[in-house]
Amino acid sequence: MSEDTIFHRILRREIPADIVYEDDHVFAFRDIAPQAPVHVLFVPKESVRTLDAMKPSQSDIVGKLAYAAAEYARKEGFAEDGYRVVINCNAHGGQTVFQLHLHLLAGAPLGRFGTSR
Ligand code: 5GP
Repeated sequence: MSEDTIFHRILRREIPADIVYEDDHVFAFRDIAPQAPVHVLFVPKESVRTLDAMKPSQSDIVGKLAYAAAEYARKEGFAEDGYRVVINCNAHGGQTVFQLHLHLLAGAPLGRFGTSR
């Protein structure tokens, strides 16, 4: 990866994280500040700053993140109860780490979401 964010450093094992899944294209680890009983981040190994920065040739990356999250939910046994996946994009979306990532939230009924006002 040419870019450098905290997630790139986690992938390089320079800082610790509870990595729960990894394949050739995607890695996933528990969020440090969980917003639900299960909160896992799915991150592409390829550098992509935001959903907005994705090139046409990179559009399969989101499918890989979503598929890995769905597989994880099935494997962990909470797929039938349900879960939420979220991608925050740029400032109004609440993005704070500028390497594309998909949040997987589960483990309890989740509240509605939208503006905080
Ligand atoms: P965003 O707000 O960009 O959509 O999500 C970034 C997420 O990364 C946040 O939920 C935040 O808690 C998580 N995060 C930030 N730094 C770290 C870290 O060093 N380790 C882990 N495991 N999660 C982090």
